[in-house]
Amino acid sequence: TTSVEVTQAHLDRIAETDGKLNAFLHVDTEGALAQARKVDEDVAAGRTPASPLAGVPLALKDVLTQEGIPTTAGSKILEGWRPPYDATVTRKLKEAGIVILGKTNMDEFAMGSSTENSAYGPTANPWDLTRIPGGSGGGSSAALAAHQAPLAIGTDTGGSIRQPGAVTGTVGVKPTYGTVSRYGLIAFSSSLDQAGPCARTVLDAALLHEVIGGYDPMDSTSINAPLPPVVAATREGAQGDLSGVRVGVVTQFSGEGYQPGVLRSFEAAVSQLKELGAEIVEISCPSFDYALPAYYLIAPSEASSNLARFDAMRYGLRVGDDGNRSTEEVMSLTREAGFGPEVKRRIMIGTYALSAGYYDAYYGSAQKVRTLITREFEQAFTKVDVLVSPTTPTTAFKIGERTNDPVAMYKADLCTIPSNLAGNCGLSVPSGLSDEDGMPVGLQIMAPALQDHRMYRVAAAYE
Ligand code: GLN
Repeated sequence: TTSVEVTQAHLDRIAETDGKLNAFLHVDTEGALAQARKVDEDVAAGRTPASPLAGVPLALKDVLTQEGIPTTAGSKILEGWRPPYDATVTRKLKEAGIVILGKTNMDEFAMGSSTENSAYGPTANPWDLTRIPGGSGGGSSAALAAHQAPLAIGTDTGGSIRQPGAVTGTVGVKPTYGTVSRYGLIAFSSSLDQAGPCARTVLDAALLHEVIGGYDPMDSTSINAPLPPVVAATREGAQGDLSGVRVGVVTQFSGEGYQPGVLRSFEAAVSQLKELGAEIVEISCPSFDYALPAYYLIAPSEASSNLARFDAMRYGLRVGDDGNRSTEEVMSLTREAGFGPEVKRRIMIGTYALSAGYYDAYYGSAQKVRTLITREFEQAFTKVDVLVSPTTPTTAFKIGERTNDPVAMYKADLCTIPSNLAGNCGLSVPSGLSDEDGMPVGLQIMAPALQDHRMYRVAAAYE
């Protein structure tokens, strides 16, 4: 099969299904077929393909820039903006010969857990069109689950790769902070934002991980260290032997708010890991109970600063510029019209938390909690190799169910946020269907910074 055939099949699938799903904000038919033809020509001429994934189609979350292609981050304020440059992730995808099909829907500026905060309408979960596909990267996860694309890219600030992966029955990986470049990733919370691979199998995710990862001088927080050997670890894990691997079960991630069907699936997953030879240890991390409040101070604080750049002058939308209004008035009118309610809420919370007189009480306390969480991870990882939990407390909820209750929405990331605060890595692998509602459940596997290969090994054995 040629890459053109594979690409065309996926474009057809998108044309057939996306009216119902709304996973894509932009489909680049021409660009995708051109890239596919180039790969086919290379193969026909006997040239070695650029990577094992050359010619394979991919869906790119609309928060990463792609030169000349509309990039909105799910916001009206960026409508019509065509970035003049590729994100490092995008550049690496192109260099690997990967075919970028288009840009996927997401919660505005990656703020959300359901893709309902997109300015371009919600995405539906392919398993049940009345339910959410997770968020913020719901477009990418829905595209995978609906077979619109075999690979996708997401970004995970508090769970936006892993949580959509879990609720759509796909694999989502948040690599160690600093190991995939943030250059060209539209910033939400810079100390937490991390791009990563999404796929339907652990091996596909690992292959993609090695394409996009690595040191980048264009990102000041990029780690100058060799990328963890995730493909090799996946092949090792696929042998199905986990003897000698110590797996910690985080006791905080159960109880109130967790669906019984999710907990039963998790217990079955832990039994399976034990059968594969892993040693199971219970681990208590009391500070994880404060991860959610700490995150909802730190992330909005950084967002309030990062989003100041949308000032009606530099990008996209400009409202009320009739020649009589001041710069401040145009800026204010543009931000009023261009940002949705959740983004405004975060800007207000963040601005408040950072203001003089409140900084120590809010932002300062949150940073202290962040340190405690990091230490508890370090402590835990002296006793075990990986930690496991359900990825999300519940399966995919109904569209509209949590839109008027931001705190209920925030709770979707209860289990994923600690890894972001600590800068560690985390992965979600499908863990069957809930016996309550028949919807997919995810198993989260977490490892220390730069030990991404550990979680791939366990995930591949479990898969
Ligand atoms: N749901 C979380 C939030 O709204 C995480 C989002 C993300 O990881 N981008 O902030």
